[in-house]
Amino acid sequence: MQNAALRACEIDAQYTRFHIRANELRSALRFLRNLDFVGVNLTVPHKIAAFAQIDQADESASQAGAVNTIRLRDKKLFGSNTDGEGFLRAIRSEFSVDVRDLRVMIIGAGGGTGRAITWQCALENCERLVLVNRTHEKAAALAEQLQPFFAGPRVLGPAARLEAVGWEEAALRAQLADVDLIVNATPLGMNPSDPSPILARLLAPHHLVLDCVYGPSKTALLRAAEQAGARSANGLSMLLHQGALSFSIWFDREAPIDPMRKALL
Ligand code: NAP
Repeated sequence: MQNAALRACEIDAQYTRFHIRANELRSALRFLRNLDFVGVNLTVPHKIAAFAQIDQADESASQAGAVNTIRLRDKKLFGSNTDGEGFLRAIRSEFSVDVRDLRVMIIGAGGGTGRAITWQCALENCERLVLVNRTHEKAAALAEQLQPFFAGPRVLGPAARLEAVGWEEAALRAQLADVDLIVNATPLGMNPSDPSPILARLLAPHHLVLDCVYGPSKTALLRAAEQAGARSANGLSMLLHQGALSFSIWFDREAPIDPMRKALL
């Protein structure tokens, strides 16, 4: 996708993949400073760890406490996070709705991507936000931090506008009656044998399901959504939009979205 964009813009550079282990991130970022890199993307599991290792973070990265895009200038690392805005654009293009009008549940809210999406939902002032995370304390701390965004009454009915709930069937069932959009921001689904983060019997036809996982095969969550008659999308659209935003950060220009989309298909 990025190489297609570079070709379309006639930029003489290449986008390449490096496998960096968690314990190698610090030295990898040091190498980047000294080599002729324009920038990098970071993905699972580096986004949160990288935040502490950059020279400067913009607002998107500071809010999420996570970085997915680094731009290099004069051997300094400038961090941004395009996952939140990429998510917004993906929801608009996949479901023709705006996040601000939705009641959203984010599973994996405590991870690098989950935090960025959660912040974006708060900034958009979505109708309702429900945070779920394997380590519940992280979701609870995030909900505490975001409380001021949800102080005003917007939604009709008794459900609280912002909640962190445990990852248990009864708690999820109770919440899902008052949720429109379910987002999987965990890596569950990257492996074909992974279970769905939400059981099919908890899903209903009114739900919209976005699985951030992108890959050639349907994840268990997407199969569960199909079984329940819910509309769903995988992470490809979000991948496209967060990548286009990264390109704009590196090159100070609009990304050529059509060749990028074509390269992804
Ligand atoms: P991360 O920072 O490592 O976060 C992982 C999150 O998932 C944490 O909340 C973690 O919970 C939870 N988790 C991990 N393993 C789990 C398991 N076995 N069961 C339940 N929860 C589990 O990862 P990330 O960088 O946010 O990436 C998450 C996923 O989003 C990846 O699949 C990545 O490919 C995808 N993604 C897609 C796009 C896109 O454009 N489509 C963009 C970004 C990321 P704890 O807090 O308890 O550890």
